[in-house]
Amino acid sequence: MEFSVKKFRERAKEMGLKVTPQRIAVYREIVSRKDHPSAEELYETLKGKIEGISLTTVYRTLSSLEKAGFVKRVPTLKDKVRYDARLEPHGHFICKKCGKIVDIEVTLPVSSELLRDVGEIKECSLVCYGICKECRNEKA
Ligand SMILES: [Zn+2]
Ligand SMILES: [Zn+2]
Repeated sequence: MEFSVKKFRERAKEMGLKVTPQRIAVYREIVSRKDHPSAEELYETLKGKIEGISLTTVYRTLSSLEKAGFVKRVPTLKDKVRYDARLEPHGHFICKKCGKIVDIEVTLPVSSELLRDVGEIKECSLVCYGICKECRNEKA
């Protein structure tokens, strides 16, 4: 996915989100990487680049970006919240050993029929757990 400040500004305006250098930087960082970073990982990368940024700022920024619909939380079993800037439906593979999260191009074939008695489906996400290629090779 490509990051465009212009698009970010336009969309932020639509969503009533104030554009700040921190918000641009955090969003740009999430968009540019595919590893679904946590707030801590984003902070580690950004602290050298953005003056005066703190972990608290990163947390707050992520929360505003999430509310405005720029990023999503990746459903994981671990307590750490990871973020994704890719908004269209896709699945995730999570390595149980190194915690890596990789996108997989599957969506759940859940029919509304199936969940008729539960409620109306708005969104489904598929999460697979396993051991990634790198970790598997390490073992061998
Ligand atoms: Zn792994
Ligand atoms: Zn993803």
